[in-house]
Order: sequence, then structure tokens, then C-alpha cells
Amino acid sequence: MLVNIPLKKVVDNSYDITIDTIEKVHFDTKVAIVTNPKVAGLHLAYLLEKISAKELYIITVADGEEYKNQDSIDTILESLFNHRFNRKSLLVAFGGGVIGDMTGYAASIYQRGIDFIQIPTTLLSQVDASVGGKTGMNNKYGKNLVGAFHQPKHVYIDPYFLKTLPGREFGAGVAEIVKMAVTFNKDFFEFLETADLHNEEILQEAIKQAVETKANVVAQDEKEHGLRAALNYGHTFGHVIENETGYKKYLHGEAVAIGMVMANMTAVKMGLMSEKEALRVQKLLEKYNLPTSYAVSNSELFYEAFFLDKKSSDASITFILPVGIGDVKITDEIDKKLILSVLNSFGEKE
Ligand code: NAD
Repeated sequence: MLVNIPLKKVVDNSYDITIDTIEKVHFDTKVAIVTNPKVAGLHLAYLLEKISAKELYIITVADGEEYKNQDSIDTILESLFNHRFNRKSLLVAFGGGVIGDMTGYAASIYQRGIDFIQIPTTLLSQVDASVGGKTGMNNKYGKNLVGAFHQPKHVYIDPYFLKTLPGREFGAGVAEIVKMAVTFNKDFFEFLETADLHNEEILQEAIKQAVETKANVVAQDEKEHGLRAALNYGHTFGHVIENETGYKKYLHGEAVAIGMVMANMTAVKMGLMSEKEALRVQKLLEKYNLPTSYAVSNSELFYEAFFLDKKSSDASITFILPVGIGDVKITDEIDKKLILSVLNSFGEKE
């Protein structure tokens, strides 16, 4: 016997991303703004001038990647139950990528899924984390290993929030912008080479182009069956660096910057990118004080650590390698010796 459930529905998950000063908006439902004490202290008053709702609650969780965990998710869910949120209620993620990922995940599981919107406040979350619907949290097995694809209903990117962002956090966001340009958009890369992202108008243009690039990739491959993996450029190496340094020395974007330089060197050795192109990428990263060197103390151990990355299937490692500037190759066929020679040459630096 066979019973078939016909579920071939076309679901429209489309949403808009507004890049501008947030306009006043009223929600005729229960709304909870999820944030942390730092962002609340800096910007909640501003947001409350803009957002109103039938009932409005603020949920605060501790600030930091180390709190992107089940305890914080439970804090959010408990508050929703206590305030009797229903399936028409709405969550607002108000903070960086940590808040965005956790709020989206809580929204994806509360009563099997409610709506949420993203109001990202770091450059990294404005250009990357808030777009694309990847939500989740960390656990003892690793980062982002629990989560769901749950697209927001709207993303409001207000560059105003970036005025209070520390310089290193700004640089970490620039790294993700460079990532989008190198992998998908040569014109954008050339724009960045001459642009000064500390200029507000130019920054807004760069945010727009980065978001457009990401949106275009997500539209083609929402659940990362192929193309979307290209956005992990720099991350295969970067994750090992974050891990080796206990997630303390480098911000995520900084580790990705070093990872991109390593990926570029691999691409140069494979004849996919010229040395000149690799240097242009490095120069752009260094313009924003991003680190581009790293002392690899043990190349074999570094190589072994690739296999702990969840993005690698059992026996192979996926590398995202630029092809020139503006194109990318996703491959798991790379000679170990070649990677070791890249890592060894990094060992000589610093
Ligand atoms: P974060 O959320 O930890 O924010 C960094 C710091 O800046 C925090 O202390 C935060 O409180 C503070 N902050 C936020 N806004 C501020 C402001 N306007 N002024 C001053 N300080 C402010 O880190 P992040 O870099 O925004 O995001 C990193 C997280 O994003 C990671 O957990 C990563 O896994 C996730 N991420 C998700 C995706 C995705 O597609 N979902 C993509 C990239 C990264």
C-alpha cells in the first residue's frame, strides 16, 4: 500500500529589504522586540519612536556569541508564552547577527513558526546575516549546528545604527562585503577599490550592492544546495583560524579576511587567479585594517581541522576558490599537498 501526500505547493517567501532611515510603522498585533542590553542602551529609544504595535514587549538576552545558545532561546520562548503570543504575533530582531539568528530561530519554532522581521544594527548583519533566512544557535558540538531556514517578512537596514559601531566590528562587516564582490561581482569590487566606506553615501551604496548580490544568490539557491555555498568563500580556512584561536583573537569577519587570502593563494597555485588579482583583494582588506596574515604553527593539524567543519561531508572538504575577480569555483577536489604548501607559506609569516 502506498499513501501519497501531495505537497507540491509553491510557497512565496519573497520579502523586501529597505535600506534607508526607518519610517514609522504600526503592527496591529502583538510584537516582541528581541535585543541585548548594549543595543537597547544605544538605540532602543530611537526604534521605539518608529515602531508601535497593539501590544509591544521587549525581550533582552545577554550580549555575545557565547550566549547564542539554548538558554537564550528558552528566555525568548518563555517570554512569548508568558505574554500569550499567538501564531499571528511578530518578532523583531534588533541587533547584530547573533540576535538576528536567534530571533529568527525562535520565530521558526514558536508554535511551529511565526513571522519575524530583521532590523540589523552591525555592518555584518546588514550586509549578510539579516538576509537569506538562515537562523540558528550554537551548541557544544559547534557553531550554528542547530537551526532552520526561516525567511523574515521584511528587513529594515538603517545605516544610522552604524554610527556607534566600533572600528573592528565595522571592518568585520567590510570583509563580508569584499567576499560578495570577489565571488560574484567584478564591477562592485572595482567600485570598492576606489571607494571610501567611511563616507555615509558610499557606504549605503555598498550595502545596497552587497545585499543585492546576496539576495540574488539566495533567490537561486535558498537552502544551499549549490551556488549559495560560494558565500562561504574564506570561511573554510576562517573557521579553523577561529577555532585555533578559541574565538577570542579574531572577530568572525577578521578570520574570514585571512581565510580569503588563504583561499586566494590556493587559487593562484591552481591557476584560477593571478597573483596581481590576489594582491588587489589583500590590499582592499588591509585598507580597512583587516588582518591578512596568520602564523600557522602546524599545517597538518590545521588541515585535519577542516574535517571538523560541518560544511564538509565525511571524506572531503569543500573549498570556495575565486576565479579571477567576480567568479568562483566550488570544489572538493584539491590536492592535500597543495593546501599544505599554502599553509606552510603562511607559517613563515608574522
Ligand atoms: P554580534 O551580533 O555579536 O554583534 C557584535 C557586537 O556589536 C555585539 O557586542 C553587539 O551587541 C554590538 N552591536 C550591535 N549593534 C551595534 C551598534 N549599532 N553599535 C555598537 N555596537 C553594536 O556579531 P555580528 O558580527 O553582527 O554577527 C555575527 C553572527 O552572525 C555570528 O553568530 C554568525 O554566525 C552570524 N551570521 C549569520 C549569517 C546568516 O546568514 N544567518 C551570516 C553571517 C553571520
